Amino acid sequence: MEKISSDELAIDRKGRARLPSLDVAHRAVAQRVCDFNDICIPLTPEEAQFEASRCVHCPDPAPCVEACPAHNDIPTAMWLIEQGEFLEAAQLYRQTSSMPEICGRVCPQEQLCQGSCSHIKTHASVITGDLEAWVTCYERRTVGVKLPVGESSGKKVAIVGSGPAGLGCAEQLLQQGHAVTFFESRPAPGGMLTYGIPPFKMPKEIVFCRIGDLEDAGAQFVFSTTIGKDKTIDDLFAEGFDAVFIGVGSEIDAPMEVPGEDLPGVYKATQFLARCNVAAELLPEDMRQRPDVGKRVVVIGGGDTASDCLRTALRMGAEDVSCLYRRTIKEMPGGVKDRELALEEGAHYQFLTQPVRFIANASGHLAQIECIRMALGEPDAKGRRRPVPVEGSNFIVEADTAVLALGYWPDPVIGETTPGLETHKYGLILADHQTGATSRLGVYAGGDDVTGPDLVVTAMMFGRRAAAAIDDYLKAK
Ligand SMILES: Cc1cc2nc3c(=O)[nH]c(=O)nc-3n(C[C@H](O)[C@H](O)[C@H](O)COP(=O)(O)OP(=O)(O)OC[C@H]3O[C@@H](n4cnc5c(N)ncnc54)[C@H](O)[C@@H]3O)c2cc1C
Repeated sequence: MEKISSDELAIDRKGRARLPSLDVAHRAVAQRVCDFNDICIPLTPEEAQFEASRCVHCPDPAPCVEACPAHNDIPTAMWLIEQGEFLEAAQLYRQTSSMPEICGRVCPQEQLCQGSCSHIKTHASVITGDLEAWVTCYERRTVGVKLPVGESSGKKVAIVGSGPAGLGCAEQLLQQGHAVTFFESRPAPGGMLTYGIPPFKMPKEIVFCRIGDLEDAGAQFVFSTTIGKDKTIDDLFAEGFDAVFIGVGSEIDAPMEVPGEDLPGVYKATQFLARCNVAAELLPEDMRQRPDVGKRVVVIGGGDTASDCLRTALRMGAEDVSCLYRRTIKEMPGGVKDRELALEEGAHYQFLTQPVRFIANASGHLAQIECIRMALGEPDAKGRRRPVPVEGSNFIVEADTAVLALGYWPDPVIGETTPGLETHKYGLILADHQTGATSRLGVYAGGDDVTGPDLVVTAMMFGRRAAAAIDDYLKAK
């Protein structure tokens, strides 16, 4: 699609800059905390056109395009939406992104495209993320989505893990005519899109529809198969695969390492989110029972996962939902948007607080958390001020359920079972960030298993870049 230059548009930038922002409306709090459905009220086509018309079409390079890890051509998409050329806008997004309907919903836009929008200096940015999601969902609703498939190359690629990295890689490989087979340890595809991100943020149908596009294009899925346990990377080559992409994420919950962490009622975030938010038939048998969270839920941690756990606990019927974080709001790593939604829905925060012990009641279930107050000390290597315990400040927080949302580590199993595959000392796979090439010929890796926990869009882009390198490798082979 040809790029429209800002001169051609003859834009009245001042007039556009004065238009008020629409923003996406959310369902009323009292209603939305009673279910797990999408909280957003979809824009009407007229609202989408109006919002897109607020874009002032900054001269190239537009800051929103630069800030988008996929480098979506956002100004041209805004122009097409403004003109009512919705299908063309959707097509434009699909040129640079393998899952715009998903990224439009879950990207932290306030830190990416919207955070760099020139409107931000004066008032609200154009809601480019919501428009991306809206227009690509409009396309699916009205004409459907068909993935272009290249002429068969006769080559087969094994994709280990079906999260955003694997899905991005597969989408590109199919377009180059390579056959792809996913090997996935869980009973269903999607990685954290299915098992982590709650449906009130992104309905699961959106993920399954996109995966359905890949299936229609010929992708094969082998579920409940853990590479490194059920078979190895070398087994995959022995089975006739010409190349392997590893996109297994970084999914082991970091422990807290305090007494009582194993008590009934203390959950790891991944397990809690999956058991509360995912349909039982998509879970392994031992995770199918929904947790009884009781009245008081305490979430420990400060990232996006913590926000998701807080909001999930409220929907599970808890009356008192709080977040304990050992630094202050200023140092919190999670996105502002999700934190604001958690607050709006009734969660509250206790800063400068660190649990030191989980305490059981007479029947052995979690009943209390002993905490200590923290103060901020000297900055650490990343410049964040280090939390320091205030001696003698211990106090008790009552809790029926505690959820540990403390970050993620990679599973070392693939590194340990693949001769010649170099890994970082913490288990991350060493790979070239441009090509995904690892120390093993024909083995590529990308996403959270290389970068550590990051974003859907960065994992997807890693997968796409690796697909280009795999295509070069297969052509040269
Ligand atoms: C609760 C939560 C909320 C999040 N919210 C957001 C958000 O709002 N926005 C955002 O941009 N990012 C968010 N993220 C981060 C984002 O989900 C991840 O960065 C992204 O999913 C990483 O993609 P990936 O493909 O590298 O790994 P994953 O999505 O983790 O997928 C890896 C896949 O590999 C499979 N697997 C693992 N080991 C093996 C093995 N040995 N053999 C076979 N299969 C294996 C797993 O089952 C999984 O399906 C969130 C993460 C979490 C945990």
